Amino acid sequence: MKVTEHIKQANGKALFSFEIVPPQKGQNIQELYNNINPLMEFKPPFIDVTTSREEYVYIEKKGLLDRKITRMRPGTVGICASLKYKYNVDAIPHVLCGGFTKEETEYVLVDCHYLGLDNVMALRGDAMKHEKYFSATKNGNQFASELVTQIKNLNKGKYLHEIIETPYNSDFCIGVAGYPEKHLESPSLDSDLRRLKEKVDAGADYVVTQMFFDNKKYFDFVEKARSIGITVPIIPGIKPIAIKRHLQVLPQVFKLDLPEILISEVEKCKDNKQVRQIGVEWAIEQSKELITKGVPVVHFYSMGKSDNIREIAASVF
Ligand code: FAD
Repeated sequence: MKVTEHIKQANGKALFSFEIVPPQKGQNIQELYNNINPLMEFKPPFIDVTTSREEYVYIEKKGLLDRKITRMRPGTVGICASLKYKYNVDAIPHVLCGGFTKEETEYVLVDCHYLGLDNVMALRGDAMKHEKYFSATKNGNQFASELVTQIKNLNKGKYLHEIIETPYNSDFCIGVAGYPEKHLESPSLDSDLRRLKEKVDAGADYVVTQMFFDNKKYFDFVEKARSIGITVPIIPGIKPIAIKRHLQVLPQVFKLDLPEILISEVEKCKDNKQVRQIGVEWAIEQSKELITKGVPVVHFYSMGKSDNIREIAASVF
């Protein structure tokens, strides 16, 4: 079922959902199930599965370094299918511009359609590790809005090359990313919001936000989005802080601000066990306020750990 239908069916009751990261290549999927199992009692209507970009690795050969391309965490679409049929849950693959030609993207989407996946999350992806700025793959999509257009075309039965046009079309519900504290490359929040509007105008059905730790940032973002005519659901993304290093890593990677009270509470902690507890309590307070204000879903970034998400869900849902 589509995310938008889940929201409609919930009739104002906030839903619980989360995002997982595929295991590293070669690991067993059982570990992923073990991680997800404790969260299933909170009946998530959908689970997101991230996609990671390709990376360069250097292999030494006779004193020379040979550059090879690899993908450390492949298998997003396969994992989605396994979750869908094991748990009877809607699993949402993240589809990226970066690292894929439009043809490769088309085949990913065709696979999703065959497997009965009703939703896809359309994302640009980040620059590769060695790059300062994102550059599109040759014959790939440059921005998420272009990817949304490609998916929307497929929904109309319009394939890339006329020769393989068929009367069969997909009907994907399309999610896109939004940034309450603006995307790191964007010159301003207003400019980034105009870009978000372009994604929605291209056919995106809902937005999931980047993590934020101050709900006011989310509420202001939603208000601004509504004021420029973005009417689709805007789902808040929440990540509980779990280790002291998050105080540096999260602002550095995602260019977001952490509230002073949260920083000082974390700094007072003697070990990461205490930090984890602060993170859980903060996320519980955030989630409760968001739900009181009527958000459709609270979406958690699990990043491979479910114990803290379980604790939050148990006291919120
Ligand atoms: P876009 O919407 O294309 O925007 C990228 C930048 O370009 C923004 O600064 C925007 O303002 C600007 N822009 C957009 N259109 C134009 C235009 N026409 N002209 C000029 N500038 C423009 N990354 C992964 O690698 N894998 C994942 O699974 C993944 N999942 C994510 C899930 C969520 C909910 C979120 C919030 C992010 C996720 N990301 C993931 C990270 C995401 O790929 C990065 O943040 C990426 O840098 C931007 O992606 P986007 O889809 O927002 O890009």
